[in-house]
Amino acid sequence: MQANPSGISMQSETSVERGAQALLGEAAPLDGSRFRVLADEIPALISSTAASGEVESVNARVLEYYGASLEQLRNWQKSNFVHPDELSEVIAAWQHSMVTGEPYDIEHRSRRFDGVYRWFHVRAQPLRDAEGQIVRWCYVHVDIDERKRAELVSLGEKKLLEMVASGVELSEVLKALCHLLGSVADGCCSGVLLLDRSHTRIKLAVAPALPDSYNRALEGLSVSLEHGPCGMAATLKKQVIVADVAAETRFDTEGWPALAREYGIRSCWSTPVLSRAGETLGTFAVYQRSPGVPSAHHNALMQQLTQVAAIAIERSRSEEALKRGQAVLAEAEVISATGSFSLEPTSGLHWWSDQTYRIFGVEPGTPLSLDLVRARCHPDDLDVMNQCLEYAQRGESHATELRLQLPDGTIKYVQLGGHAYVGTVDGSSEFVGAVRDVTERRQSEAALNKARSELAHAARVTSLGMLTASIAHELNQPLSGIMTNAGTGLRMLSGSTPNVDGALETTRRTLRDAQRAADVIARLRALFGGKTSTTEVLDLNQVAREVLALLRIELQQGRVVLRTQLAEPIHAIRGDRVQLQQVVLNLLQNAIAAMSGISERPRQLLVRTDNQADQVCLQVCDVGIGIDETRLEELFDAFYTTKSDGMGIGLSVSRAIIENHRGHLWACSNEGPGATFAFSIPIHL
Ligand code: ADP
Repeated sequence: MQANPSGISMQSETSVERGAQALLGEAAPLDGSRFRVLADEIPALISSTAASGEVESVNARVLEYYGASLEQLRNWQKSNFVHPDELSEVIAAWQHSMVTGEPYDIEHRSRRFDGVYRWFHVRAQPLRDAEGQIVRWCYVHVDIDERKRAELVSLGEKKLLEMVASGVELSEVLKALCHLLGSVADGCCSGVLLLDRSHTRIKLAVAPALPDSYNRALEGLSVSLEHGPCGMAATLKKQVIVADVAAETRFDTEGWPALAREYGIRSCWSTPVLSRAGETLGTFAVYQRSPGVPSAHHNALMQQLTQVAAIAIERSRSEEALKRGQAVLAEAEVISATGSFSLEPTSGLHWWSDQTYRIFGVEPGTPLSLDLVRARCHPDDLDVMNQCLEYAQRGESHATELRLQLPDGTIKYVQLGGHAYVGTVDGSSEFVGAVRDVTERRQSEAALNKARSELAHAARVTSLGMLTASIAHELNQPLSGIMTNAGTGLRMLSGSTPNVDGALETTRRTLRDAQRAADVIARLRALFGGKTSTTEVLDLNQVAREVLALLRIELQQGRVVLRTQLAEPIHAIRGDRVQLQQVVLNLLQNAIAAMSGISERPRQLLVRTDNQADQVCLQVCDVGIGIDETRLEELFDAFYTTKSDGMGIGLSVSRAIIENHRGHLWACSNEGPGATFAFSIPIHL
């Protein structure tokens, strides 16, 4: 506690008042000497005024406190005995009491003989005569400086914390903090220096009582031991006291001391503002225009306000970090075309990131609902979407791909996925997910696929055409030779005198040409049959899965609902992986094609594998246009096709491959719509 410099021992307000009242309670006029003797005994500042308000008498302690004569005090309204900040309020309250006779009760600062202002609680009661007329006012001034300042500090601190909590800009909070110090520490002003994130430079200087040019001169400076008390306090993380700038030798004289002198600063006490982790966030400095060191009161105040500054700076830093994180995330979402969302299963509340709004083609801020989500879903994928929403509401992890259809008809391919997330704040769980726009990828995949199949088709046509031409060319010569020779031989034998020798010769030539034709065929066989196939031990399920992965896009584009029933484990077989993949690919492509015109039922495709006694079997069941049972075997003939762009060699080649593997390939009609194509291959022992 600061000693009371007025020399008045402090008593409680009420006991002082009771003494004063007893003393001045007489309605009869008091003569000056009697008043003085009694009043000087009272350990408080007391005074009395006439009914008009004119100061009549004051006790010795009043004169001692103000260091002024009674005459000077009578002129208090025009002097600086009352602090200028409160003077008009004091005059108004005093006039009010004079006019109404209501007790006078106010707190204000009064100027001590040495110029220091202290807070007083001043109360006055009117003393009335027998007729009830006011004859005099009796005033008691009680020094409440310490309590008042403590009250102001805690009130100011509360206000500052409210500012921090409500997100007021940091520079405004720091200005208010400096104002608070100025209002409770007479003759002092203060400033806060904020360091940048590297803790090496001054990012912001806030000293509202000093000219802006002072703050600007400090901003951007690097902090070091030589750069004034704040630089030293920030570096050493310790309070630095400069009691007299004029006598200071620790700093670079051209730097801060020159600046301080320019702005009339004579003493400076700088305290580092530290984060909870012990990093220097900045400094809080108190300046005086006279030399001096901090009192215990100043130290307590600086400590308290430095803590508030640390809270404000840390809060603003974490908000900044949060905002930066959010901005980076939003940017990353745009770059990766991925939005995020959450769904609270119990309340049904949704949250979408801006990118999710963009992907769904919904104006940001639009109220969200499951109906809105469904409205944006492509009608054909609504079942998939509903299933996703059910998973989300049950908090089950999942991932899927589906299409959105925006109001302008745009189709978007999106991948959706997420899982339940237990919030740490209140322990409630919500579903957190991501939605990724893969339209561009799907479109380029589709274009690539189309190009690939067109190319494959063109290649097939070209190579088949070339092959046909070369076979025709190779066979043409021996066949025309056979024709010519057979015709000649016929003529030689059918004349009136058959030319047997000639006929024998032509028959020999016919045989030679037939041999040449057979050689051509043998050469062709050798050419095609010569390719050595690589056999290995295989898992038919694996073969099927690889082909299904290849066909993912085609299945999706064909809106095919794929089901697989793969026997696990499946017996191993021995064969050529690529050839068997060709067979499965061909059967699946045929099935997709057979269902392409079906719209009255879901396009379901079942791929099944079975272990049988000594073989494994793979079936492809579709619900397409089906096959004509009476022409079943024709399907396997080379060049049999019912498609405008078909080659009619897929099934015949497939059958050849399966038979090469000592297996069978067959087809049958389903009981319901569609057909089943299947093959079986002996197991590898
Ligand atoms: P392509 O597919 O080039 O026509 P394929 O030899 O693979 O040649 O098929 C021959 C014909 O068999 C097809 O044109 C089609 O008429 C018929 N076919 C094949 N698979 C099916 C199926 N799953 N459903 C109905 N018909 C089919």
